Amino acid sequence: MKHSWRVGKIFGIDINIDSSWLVIFILFSWVLSATYFPQKFHDWPRGLYWFIGVITSLLIFASVLVHELAHSLVALKQGEKVRGITLFLLGGVAQITEEPKKPLREFTMALVGPMASLLIAFLFLILSFILRGISEPLWASASYLAMINTVLAVFNLFPGFPMDGGRVLRSIIWKVTGNLKKATKIASKIGQGFAFFLIFVGILQILRANFLGLWLIFIGWFLHSAAVRGYNQVMVEAMLRGVRAEDLMTKNFETVTIDLSVQSLVDDYILKKRERVFLVSDKGSLKGIVCLEDVKSTPSEKWAMTKVGEIMTPKEKLEAVSPDADGSQVLKSITAKDIHQIPVMEGEKIAGIICRSDILRFIQLRSELGV
Ligand SMILES: [Zn+2]
Repeated sequence: MKHSWRVGKIFGIDINIDSSWLVIFILFSWVLSATYFPQKFHDWPRGLYWFIGVITSLLIFASVLVHELAHSLVALKQGEKVRGITLFLLGGVAQITEEPKKPLREFTMALVGPMASLLIAFLFLILSFILRGISEPLWASASYLAMINTVLAVFNLFPGFPMDGGRVLRSIIWKVTGNLKKATKIASKIGQGFAFFLIFVGILQILRANFLGLWLIFIGWFLHSAAVRGYNQVMVEAMLRGVRAEDLMTKNFETVTIDLSVQSLVDDYILKKRERVFLVSDKGSLKGIVCLEDVKSTPSEKWAMTKVGEIMTPKEKLEAVSPDADGSQVLKSITAKDIHQIPVMEGEKIAGIICRSDILRFIQLRSELGV
């Protein structure tokens, strides 16, 4: 099943909708149309509850989109790359490939999202005043949207990483202490604490038969893993900074032919020769690189009938780095392009290959040694 759909492009940024978003969209429409609006307003025709409910849900997600666009546009303006915005079960997320390089940049980029939400809330508030005597359903929708955008802004301003408020806090500590690692550690711990608090409140709500508690648990769990991930990312980057590509690369690799089966690659090369990465050639010319990760992402029952050429990373997708490229930059290239390996080129010649697993082993070694 496809995970997400691209629905459009705004300012050159891809807008994607994750399949989980549909679930929450239906849930929101249903809660608004069947419970929230009917409880507050008794004399609307039945279809009108659904019409206003669906429109309001759509506008909630449009608001979330504007919030994420605000982050993205500032990131673009600061020269960062924005891969896209994805709306999913718990709101929206802007995929900005790099962490900000300066405290002030992070401060601005983080703060602009909640500010956008507050501005939208204010606009809906004005709209609700205008609509007050004109149309009760439209007034109800506008007031609800003013309220939900205020909630969105306040919630996001909580000072726990990875929420916007947590990023603001991190940038302030970073600016004061000059230490990004320390700043991330503090903001991430507060974020994890907040996540546990949400999970706790969620459980209490479920015990009281309020199933919105389930959503709080989801958000808490998501925030917790994002807080831990954000912390790890900064630590990993710090560990890799100053490490050169040639310290990470594998220098010994054999060449296999493009029509070799994955099964014989495993039996005759990986297991026998204990190597993890191979050049793939066709009649003497280089076609791509295959490494252990490519094999692992293919189900083992398919190994016999799959050819190496089908699982390798083709030459066109490989972006080479030089032997003195920075380790954190190498990891970023691999992550940004979602590939498993990157060749290290010395002029026209392949000096080595770095696989994702090489980087992971390096990090593991360093953290075990505590250096
Ligand atoms: Zn935000």
